[in-house]
Amino acid sequence: MTVSAPKGTADILPDESYKWQYVERKIRDICSRFGFCEIRTPVFEHTEVFERGVGDATDVVTKEMYTFEDKGGRSITLRPEGTAGVVRAYLENGLFNGAMPVKLYYLINCFRYEKPQKGRLRQFSQFGVELFGATSPETDALIISLPHMLLCELGIKDIELKINSIGCRGCRAEYRRALTEYFESRKDKLCPTCNERLYKNPMRILDCKSEICRSVCKDAPRITDYLCSDCRDHFEKVKAALEGLGIAYTVDSSIVRGLDYYNRTVFEFVSGDIGAQGTVCGGGRYDGLTEQLGGAPCAGIGFAMGLERLMLLLGNKTDRPVTQLYVAAVGERAKAYSAGLAHRLMKDGASVEYDVMNRSLKAQLKYADKIGARSCIVIGDSELDNKKAVLKNMKSGRQTEIPLDDITAAQIEEAIENE
Ligand code: ATP
Ligand code: MG
Repeated sequence: MTVSAPKGTADILPDESYKWQYVERKIRDICSRFGFCEIRTPVFEHTEVFERGVGDATDVVTKEMYTFEDKGGRSITLRPEGTAGVVRAYLENGLFNGAMPVKLYYLINCFRYEKPQKGRLRQFSQFGVELFGATSPETDALIISLPHMLLCELGIKDIELKINSIGCRGCRAEYRRALTEYFESRKDKLCPTCNERLYKNPMRILDCKSEICRSVCKDAPRITDYLCSDCRDHFEKVKAALEGLGIAYTVDSSIVRGLDYYNRTVFEFVSGDIGAQGTVCGGGRYDGLTEQLGGAPCAGIGFAMGLERLMLLLGNKTDRPVTQLYVAAVGERAKAYSAGLAHRLMKDGASVEYDVMNRSLKAQLKYADKIGARSCIVIGDSELDNKKAVLKNMKSGRQTEIPLDDITAAQIEEAIENE
């Protein structure tokens, strides 16, 4: 009997994994261009890190966490997101003693017990960035510009940047009252979850995906009308800084984000091309988070991008890497030689395969064709005696004579590139 993978998980097979590698390389490249360094934190944390860091009234903490007791009786949770763990590590390792701002990025798996759908899994991948110690509105624009550049360089179009400000605690208190009042009189129209949210966390209702709640939300009071003068000023400057960088955006007052730690600027990159789960990237400022996790006050801002959703948008924008050379061999002597030749070329940087199945020449060439090898050579006794072989370009059929003993990876590449 075979065993299947748990619900909400996915295997990434060779047909797909090269696309992931391409995206991951691009991410690392852009992060280093922006001066961000990678941080790797544990896959699991004390449950408290997320309860305090993500907020215990959020969907993530109330419904979605993989929490268990370990053999030592501790409550452990598989990380549902990256920020709380990074902040914990930032405080625990005293990174605030170094040069400011501190700029970190991560590429991680996250775990949430959700109803699996297209673009929504129980184990999924996030690319995220966190910046500590800078309060200026230009910082917000810098953080937004990073995923913007990534999406541009990946050739992903038709994706909209939506920004909003959810103010500070001060502006939100008054807004919350207005919002509760508005929803209270429309209580019977809201979904059961939003009825629960009404007194606990009314701003979360604005984030509800249900059609009916969305239509109720349309005329709800807007946070941007309740911002204090400092928050309004900050938001205006973020917009100006984005314009200065040539980044187009729309202000969308329904963007409130699903996690509790945000304040002031919040943003999402949303695509209409991948169904209901269109938010590819979400982020914002979280100036109170270090304190919530027991540290000294320190400004913070970041985002997380869902890589499964990004992959849905990427399509076939990159080529699968293929074997450059297949070395076919006829006879025992040629076999031994071809393994040595292949290894010498692999050491030199070429991708090379040779027969390990004891196949006939015909079957070896059929295999080379099947894996899409870009060129092949056949080595038999006469090639060994003459120290020469014919390199055949599998696509064009063009043949080039090559010297066997001192052929280099660069020469192989040249022979297949020059078509
Ligand atoms: P959503 O509203 O879609 O549930 P969220 O607000 O819970 O998203 P965040 O916690 O901000 O999402 O996570 C950042 C990004 O991670 C999301 O924009 C999305 O691209 C991705 N993401 C979140 N949950 C999942 C999931 N279960 N499966 C795949 N990707 C996810
Ligand atoms: Mg969610």
